[in-house]
Amino acid sequence: MDFSLSDEQQLIVDSTREFVQTELYPHEQEVEETGVLRYELHRELKAKAIDAGLYAANMPTEVGGGGLDTLSWVLYEKELGKTSYALHYSCVGRPSNILLACEGEQRERYLLPTVRGERTECLALTEPGAGSDLRGMKTTAVAHGGDYLINGTKHFISHADHSDYVILFAATGEEPGEGGVRSGVRNGAGSGVRSGTRKRITAFLVDMGTPGFEVRAGYKNVSHRGYTNSILEFNDCRVPRSAILGEVDRGFDVANTWLGATRLQVAAGCLGRAERALELAAQWAVDRVQFGQSIGKFQGISFKLADMAVELRAAELLTLQAAWRRDRKIDTDTDMAMAKLKASEMLAMVADEALQIHGGMGLMSDLPLERIWRDARIERIWDGTSEVQRHIISRAMLRPLGG
Ligand SMILES: Cc1cc2nc3c(=O)[nH]c(=O)nc-3n(C[C@H](O)[C@H](O)[C@H](O)COP(=O)(O)OP(=O)(O)OC[C@H]3O[C@@H](n4cnc5c(N)ncnc54)[C@H](O)[C@@H]3O)c2cc1C
Repeated sequence: MDFSLSDEQQLIVDSTREFVQTELYPHEQEVEETGVLRYELHRELKAKAIDAGLYAANMPTEVGGGGLDTLSWVLYEKELGKTSYALHYSCVGRPSNILLACEGEQRERYLLPTVRGERTECLALTEPGAGSDLRGMKTTAVAHGGDYLINGTKHFISHADHSDYVILFAATGEEPGEGGVRSGVRNGAGSGVRSGTRKRITAFLVDMGTPGFEVRAGYKNVSHRGYTNSILEFNDCRVPRSAILGEVDRGFDVANTWLGATRLQVAAGCLGRAERALELAAQWAVDRVQFGQSIGKFQGISFKLADMAVELRAAELLTLQAAWRRDRKIDTDTDMAMAKLKASEMLAMVADEALQIHGGMGLMSDLPLERIWRDARIERIWDGTSEVQRHIISRAMLRPLGG
């Protein structure tokens, strides 16, 4: 097995790292303190990311993207993940791969301008009553005179207030069958707890400002300051049939086809943040003197660092292997689930121990550690909770045995 990076991959790592350190790190403190990513700052950094060739690096070159393979993309995501989510996600956009399902006029209206950075999308699956169990969604889209009428509420929708349109999932009918959600869909695991009927889901592209569609401020949360989430309300919102992304009733198939690797993005970001926390902790262990010596000389501290390094390496290998398998089209849902589970749980441990090594100073917002520790918390929840990932992994083990 060859674990070395190609020259091109090394270049991606180096250029992304330099951009993150020189352009984004200097603004971290402002975003954390104000809880806002200023409009002017957002525009300025986005323009710089486009100039640097880092914008939409995940998208194929045929549509104007960077054309990174999965492994290179994960290396790039790891470097971006080292800084504040508001800064790297909002300014160095990576359009959702699901937009590659756009056809005909949708490509000109949504896909291509989004890759160019002229338009921004958000993605709405989750509802107040439907989180892990997405088939429980109550938002409906009912055929009406050649159009669709959408009604319902979505919540927790990231950066919807900065977006030009939403990729919306709504129920378009019911069919006989087992409940549950297939594992590739972002939140879900396929609980199979309901029986009888299950909802048919369709994906729609809906512009902000469409009558009957309102975006309301969401909740304040402990992680990712400056990266907002919103509540979307649909009241008899009328959209044409041409707003359907993919096929009617096949919304989860579209999601499964294009969003499969999203969990690797979460995993890669966790690796980046954990690496930064570990570097800070190791330096602090050398610099901080108590009882006449560096605290790193105490086994109670040095063994923590060793365990953190081992966990980080294990999560990194799992994530890179999953990316490598995806590039060879031999990846499974288990690969993605293992990478996301391990990396997000590893980050929680590494961030917590790094903070412990810093003592009281670790809790102070003067250092980036306090942010990394807070930000770590969400990673075990979104894009499928840790329990959901374990469900996916264990189900793949037990089903072939008749379980
Ligand atoms: C800040 C933020 C931003 C987000 N951005 C978006 C977005 O842009 N778009 C979007 O669509 N969604 C978004 N989400 C939603 C996110 O993906 C969900 O929060 C997540 O999938 C979990 O759903 P839930 O919060 O409703 O928890 P629930 O599903 O209610 O889960 C509650 C608890 O029950 C456990 N549980 C549930 N089912 C099972 C089971 N079968 N077996 C074992 N345990 C189970 C869970 O693991 C969890 O511990 C965002 C969430 C947050 C917090």
